[in-house]
Amino acid sequence: MAANRWWALFAALFFLTLSRPAWAINIGLCANLAASYTDADSTITPADANTDYFNSSPVNQPAYGMWIEVYNSGGSTPIYDNWLQDDNGTFPGCTVAANITVTSGTPYDVKVFSKMKIHNDTVILKKRRSGQSDAIITYKWTGVSFTTNNAYSVLNDVPDTEMSRILAVLGFALSRKDGGMSGQTINIWDVDAASIPSGCGTSIACNSGGDIYYGVDATLTPPDATVYKSVMAHEFGHQVMNDVTVYTIPGPNYNAPTTNLCQSGPTNGHLRNGIEWHSAAVVEGFAHFYADAVFNVVGGTGCADFAKNAIDWDLTDSTNSPVNPYRCDDSPVAGLGLSTGDWEYDNCYTSPFNSLQGLANEYDYERFFWDMADKEGASVAQLIDILSDANASGPWNGNYLGNSDDVAARLVSSATLNGFDASPTYVWNTEIVGNGVFR
Ligand SMILES: [Zn+2]
Repeated sequence: MAANRWWALFAALFFLTLSRPAWAINIGLCANLAASYTDADSTITPADANTDYFNSSPVNQPAYGMWIEVYNSGGSTPIYDNWLQDDNGTFPGCTVAANITVTSGTPYDVKVFSKMKIHNDTVILKKRRSGQSDAIITYKWTGVSFTTNNAYSVLNDVPDTEMSRILAVLGFALSRKDGGMSGQTINIWDVDAASIPSGCGTSIACNSGGDIYYGVDATLTPPDATVYKSVMAHEFGHQVMNDVTVYTIPGPNYNAPTTNLCQSGPTNGHLRNGIEWHSAAVVEGFAHFYADAVFNVVGGTGCADFAKNAIDWDLTDSTNSPVNPYRCDDSPVAGLGLSTGDWEYDNCYTSPFNSLQGLANEYDYERFFWDMADKEGASVAQLIDILSDANASGPWNGNYLGNSDDVAARLVSSATLNGFDASPTYVWNTEIVGNGVFR
């Protein structure tokens, strides 16, 4: 071969090496949500709170079912858009296996949006404070390039923000405990103090008009509801129950008479350790239980939850202000001088000041529902069915003084209807009495 031909071949190889021609490859994408919560602290007591789920920050939660779009770099029309797989998928938090065709070594933009589809339910997170009325971009990666065919690329975490915290909790909650909810679209609003609806009162978070609101309360430290995983799961518990049962909180609710030892009434809102009509306490107790069921393992080491202003059930939380952990299972810790698991009786009753009839306590109901799940094997969906059937004969009007048709009696009847043995010697009834929700 002549020297100039050798030179030509060399030049061609050199050119190929320099230009590295692109080729089409198939890729998959996965995203994660980074989220820090005040009530996820591995140093917190009781020890139960350090087990189970979301027990340290930051959480790195797969972006179950979130909406993803891929663009040519700087482009305005997506070349791919779809829901990421939920927890039932082969690759949770990822696209379906390697189904995006891209050019190797070419930069792309990838966006995830504040909506997710999990178990045939859709959650759309909106941000009212910026005037948005639909899902918005949660995060955008720019200049992402790929080189390997038929491989997954894990995008760097969506950073810790209000939106990532809300989406991480709700995605996790819906994947673990959908409560039998299906085909629902749930609107979530991330709001400031000025745009929280009046129906929320002074609450940091609430359900109003069928939507959930997570807001800020300057009196809290920190003031943002989205740093409290338990608060977010509590509100979502109301939503799941409402969507499954078309349930409405009935008339007399939080406005129960103040007893000598326990407060309630409209100015106090609802507190775990306050006293309320049964109709309010059972609904709030269920929402507390829902959060318990999301973050604790039934049949595991026990139940612990977090709250602001919660009763110090086992006297261990003095160093954990402003978020107080408390036990959400069973009876009081032995040795505290309390009679049973009946918090209301132990703390709100002094003879003959009041009878407590028709009155109840959220905390007692919370532990009752947990024990039904933990000891009797009731699922969240079954408990919602029982609540729904118990409410079928008409609203719980709250004041059952002198009325045998009380909430506990309806729950017993409904439990029987749903296949649980609720006769007096069996656990269901024992739990009603033991947890103080019988009066
Ligand atoms: Zn509530």
